[in-house]
Amino acid sequence: CGIVGYTGSKPVKDILVGGLSRLEYRGYDSAGVAIEQDGELAVVHRKGKVSSLSHTLEHFDFTGTCGIGHTRWATHGRPSEANAHPHTSCDGRVAVVHNGIIENFAELREELVAEGHAFSSETDTEVVAHLVERALAGGKGLLEAVHEATDYLVGAYALAVVSFDEPGVIVAARKDSPLVVGLAQDGFYVASDIIAMIEATRDVVVLGDGEFARLTPTNVEFFTAAGSFEPTVTRVDWDLD
Ligand code: GLU
Repeated sequence: CGIVGYTGSKPVKDILVGGLSRLEYRGYDSAGVAIEQDGELAVVHRKGKVSSLSHTLEHFDFTGTCGIGHTRWATHGRPSEANAHPHTSCDGRVAVVHNGIIENFAELREELVAEGHAFSSETDTEVVAHLVERALAGGKGLLEAVHEATDYLVGAYALAVVSFDEPGVIVAARKDSPLVVGLAQDGFYVASDIIAMIEATRDVVVLGDGEFARLTPTNVEFFTAAGSFEPTVTRVDWDLD
């Protein structure tokens, strides 16, 4: 139900936990993060509160500066640790967080299973991780791979995707589910609500349907299926209270 992601110069762990705490008001049943750490994606997810996730994360000495986080409000698959996002590809190279509903997930799942993909959750979301994995295996970069994956999706989605093939990169995509990109001095943010990043930046780009963003620690670019475009940056001037 809530997404937050960051890539930049600061350790990402506390940024993700802080952002997820700010998104708690939206309601959720589980929470998780994927953090790029030592050339791998460390995925930690828990059923229950962000505070319980945060407690678990205290046991890990994560210094990584790129990652994504999620609070889940289950639509497909009961609330459980296995169904909590982020969801990963078979080889663990790709991690995905998703808000919304993939209506045609059952057909996609059947097709992917027939191709040899093994699923580890009951969610509609997990098909996205496997679709991205398949496109990467076909030689695409992460942006193109996420684009290819979304071509198969029917339904509503806000997505943030990372892959250790492209360290420091987050690709975001949306259709019928909100997503904003934040431009800060120390890096770039993506979240389902500005409130998750308001302490770091007030310069945001609201993604439109069919738009993609590719965030790196030092740059962000925006795309539609037709190619890149110059975004409109909005300055948020409201206060938190
Ligand atoms: N449909 C997805 C799931 O059940 C995402 C739900 C959400 O938006 O939190 O895992």
